[in-house]
Amino acid sequence: MSTATPNPPPAASVRGKFSYVYPAEVKGRFDRIRSWAFAGLILVYLLLPWFRIHGEQALLLDVARRRFHIFGLNLWAHEAPLLFLIMGGAAFALCFITAYWGRIWCGYACPQTVFITSIFRRVERWIEGTHLQRKRLDEEGADQPMWVVKKALKWSAFTLVSVLISHSFLAYFVGTDRLRQAMTHPPTANWTLFLVMAFIAGFILVDFGWVRERLCFTLCPYGRFQTVLMDRHSLAVVYDPVRGEPRRGSVAHATGDCVACDRCVQVCPTNIDIRNGVQMECIACTACADACDDVMARIKKPLGLIRYDTEAGLAGEPHRTARPRPFIYLGLTVLLWGALGLLLLTRADVDIVQLRAKGATYQQVTDPIRGPRVINHLRFDLTNLAHRDQEVTIACATQGFEVISATNPVPLPRGQVAHADLFIAFPKDRLDFGKATATLEFREGGKLVSRQDLTLVGPYQ
Ligand code: SF4
Ligand code: SF4
Repeated sequence: MSTATPNPPPAASVRGKFSYVYPAEVKGRFDRIRSWAFAGLILVYLLLPWFRIHGEQALLLDVARRRFHIFGLNLWAHEAPLLFLIMGGAAFALCFITAYWGRIWCGYACPQTVFITSIFRRVERWIEGTHLQRKRLDEEGADQPMWVVKKALKWSAFTLVSVLISHSFLAYFVGTDRLRQAMTHPPTANWTLFLVMAFIAGFILVDFGWVRERLCFTLCPYGRFQTVLMDRHSLAVVYDPVRGEPRRGSVAHATGDCVACDRCVQVCPTNIDIRNGVQMECIACTACADACDDVMARIKKPLGLIRYDTEAGLAGEPHRTARPRPFIYLGLTVLLWGALGLLLLTRADVDIVQLRAKGATYQQVTDPIRGPRVINHLRFDLTNLAHRDQEVTIACATQGFEVISATNPVPLPRGQVAHADLFIAFPKDRLDFGKATATLEFREGGKLVSRQDLTLVGPYQ
């Protein structure tokens, strides 16, 4: 017999007003695994922008300059289809992971969980003590001198950590070189960057310091989505009612393993009761599983009354690995990343875009030897997509047409865009109703990187 009672809104009063949660401290096997995972991830999140691959920042999403370095791959904003394939593949990969392993991302890898659990809650515990001491401190209020001292200390430490995280976060978007330059100059030299950094630090401070898990079930879109990505066979942190019910004390002679100690509720950072079933607010942090394992060990019952399992598993059904939904997500991931791989394999090292040149579209000149000629002014943007400096030679493959340029070959340093102004001169009699066609060839190290067909103009005759 189940004694489940409806939850009040998580971390909220019965009137729907959000209240502050004081989750109790917990230790256990899942906590140990998470602590190691968090330590590694904090290093990755903070240090990743400082690593280089082929001399470029390992991960740089420089939206302002429309450049993206993604683990050795250099992309520009005009390569939006490639960016779409990367992000679409990553989104479906996350769907696939969720369909099999539930909210493993929320519990083990989301920066929100990682920083709040490993740093903010730890700092809070050092300064304000256990959850009961923290609660008492807040109830006593600002009249107490210790309240002022502890809150000042805590929020100063939080601010320091938030500013540090904010700098690392910015490095992903502006690059470490720009960040280093800004950090070694006064804010007045980089007002925009300074204000963006201050805004991000403020957001982190409020979110990680105060809002915390309430963001997960109010604002996070993934938190909302995961319920439609999971099914009866997806892994989740669940309570086993067959073993646990009827809980002790709920009815006379109840023999369930749950002793109704409420430890699982006390440690929950979202303030829900896992015994009421899988809920959207559960971020799969496993604190309740560790707390319940501790209780089970003390009363000499098998561990795992709260454990990782599936709804089907709880109902005694066999686990189904081969299911259409995760395979569709996996298939879409493979499809998008496969297409990305193909496009990258066939991508040239130089991207060439013809632009409209300024001024008159053509000029007429008379060459004393070759007779009347027409000259068209053309402009090209050449983007270096390779991890090396290049030099591009431009030539006209059409007989009788000539390329005139002050800089040919065009030097193209790594990661740069070069502008090439060209003049194409050709005999006037090659015009047909004011138009002539020609083909330009762009070569790098003797290898053809692009061929472009041009329509040239001249006087109508
Ligand atoms: S911690 Fe375990 S025994 Fe205690 S109330 Fe929760 S489920 Fe029951
Ligand atoms: S129910 Fe358990 S796993 Fe879910 S958020 Fe609460 S403590 Fe974490």
